[in-house]
Amino acid sequence: MGKVYIVGAGPGDPELLTLKALKVIKKADVILYDRLINPEILLYAKPECELIYVGKEDGKHILEQDKINFLLYEFAKNNDIVVRLKGGDPFVFGRGGEEAIFLKEKGIPYEIIPGITSAISVPLYGGVPITHRGISSSFVVITGHGSKGQFPNIDWNAISKIDTIIFLMGVSNREKIAKNLINVGKSPETPIIFIEKGTTKEQKEIEATLGEVAEGKIKVYPPAIFLIGDVVKLRNKISWFEEALGEIQL
Ligand code: SAH
Repeated sequence: MGKVYIVGAGPGDPELLTLKALKVIKKADVILYDRLINPEILLYAKPECELIYVGKEDGKHILEQDKINFLLYEFAKNNDIVVRLKGGDPFVFGRGGEEAIFLKEKGIPYEIIPGITSAISVPLYGGVPITHRGISSSFVVITGHGSKGQFPNIDWNAISKIDTIIFLMGVSNREKIAKNLINVGKSPETPIIFIEKGTTKEQKEIEATLGEVAEGKIKVYPPAIFLIGDVVKLRNKISWFEEALGEIQL
């Protein structure tokens, strides 16, 4: 029986991989990877490594979770090192926990390698600090999609009290989310930023107000995260990523 590594690949920029992740990617006999994985990362795999795409398309799993679990089991039986590569951090809306529970039940040895989550790093590449002395002393990360694809069940009143509100998988529900926050008393003037394809060369930032989003005025395309809060106003003082692109990298 081989070993399965549940690995976070970071948000997009391949250099945001951890050294541990890179080490197992280089040694892997099989890599099962998700949709948001930067293909450049897969170039580090051995030439004979089997690369298997198990991502989602249009909200539908090409392979259902049970099938992914089954594949992990089958590959672990016949290979030494199986890598389950997930975008960002494997346990932040990544179903890594479900896979770990399955592997433990089956008695398959595994390790978990954390990744840099998009929830925090994408705002940072967009020039927005999620906390800032005097402006934000709390943040919350929420999925904008229910587990069965429905509108999520959220305590809007409770989250409206948090200084910085970060949504993942929320692009298609952005209007409804904005309306709900305004309904519980969040000002329509509250700044919001959408960041598409964060940490990649195609990164795009769109700033707006909560009111504009609630009125359906703002166009955004996934993958994107959005962040609501006064920290967005710091962006013009901090932003750096666009200037850094194309410069010498370490
Ligand atoms: N485990 C991942 C999140 C998986 S949910 C993590 O820790 O980052 C997928 C959602 O993450 C997407 O719908 C989007 O909201 C967000 N996301 C992931 N990568 C992103 C990127 N490079 N730019 C913007 N949003 C991203």
